[in-house]
Amino acid sequence: MNKDIATPQHTKTILNKFNFKFKKSLGQNFLIDQNILNKIVDSAKVTSKSGVIEIGPGIGALTEHLAKRAQKVVAFEIDQRLIPILNETLQDYSNVKIIHSDVLEANVDQVIKDELDEVEDLVVVANLPYYVTTPIIMKLLTEKLPIRSIVVMIQKEVAERMAAQPGTKDYGSLSIAVQYYAKPKTEVKVPKTVFVPQPNVDSSVISLNLREAAPVEVKDEDFFFKVVRSSFAQRRKTLLNNLQNNLFTKEQKPQIEAALEEIEIDGRRRGESLSIEEFAILSNKLLVLQK
Ligand code: SAM
Repeated sequence: MNKDIATPQHTKTILNKFNFKFKKSLGQNFLIDQNILNKIVDSAKVTSKSGVIEIGPGIGALTEHLAKRAQKVVAFEIDQRLIPILNETLQDYSNVKIIHSDVLEANVDQVIKDELDEVEDLVVVANLPYYVTTPIIMKLLTEKLPIRSIVVMIQKEVAERMAAQPGTKDYGSLSIAVQYYAKPKTEVKVPKTVFVPQPNVDSSVISLNLREAAPVEVKDEDFFFKVVRSSFAQRRKTLLNNLQNNLFTKEQKPQIEAALEEIEIDGRRRGESLSIEEFAILSNKLLVLQK
């Protein structure tokens, strides 16, 4: 049962054997293409010294490929119905540990300490459930986990927003949130035909290589992200209007204007034109106006 789970025929056999019905609400689109699986594992640069955290193993398509190359794989799966299936499909891989849990609820740091303490290199690799892509990635980025890289299959448009540069239509608070913690790189675009069932959207594999230190000096991270979100609240409005309407008050307009003038950022610009460095300077400057 353990060889090449991810062929169309073998996947069908496994699903039939266990009478498994897909749950759309859990983002269940399973991979049935060996080439894509190899590309994902290659992109993640998994070696025999790597520990891998997988999110959502499904019936084990990607897990199997990871298990063949990594020292150890720990996979979080929310769907109880998949646990007995995984126990069978992955029975020959002693380096795989399945944890039945919602990854958003899990104490990932503790799991790393308990299960992956001995690995030299730690990566997250997953074909993510699309309904919770952003919360999962933000959890992994912000919890300051000892991971080198997050390599994930996600919706193509979301990957484009994560990697977007200033001045483009895709650039927004998600681009800045991700790029503050990591360097994104789109690895490969993926057609719908490699999944069963086929999703309604196109996909990309993106790698997020975690930074050792933030790329800019920010005095207050919470406030920095508030400034960023406020600046994009209404994309067609100017920076000054967005800040005044969403973060401060009308009465504070003169002070915001003075602050912008001092740091030489034109308040008539739109949020989408500001670089991450400019947002850092802006938030450091506006911090004293915070109520
Ligand atoms: N890795 C498999 C593959 O590539 O064929 C399955 C990928 S499928 C897109 C997403 C998987 O994530 C499903 O198995 C689903 O049950 C699981 N899942 C959904 N939400 C989850 C969550 N919050 N925590 C852990 N697993 C989750």
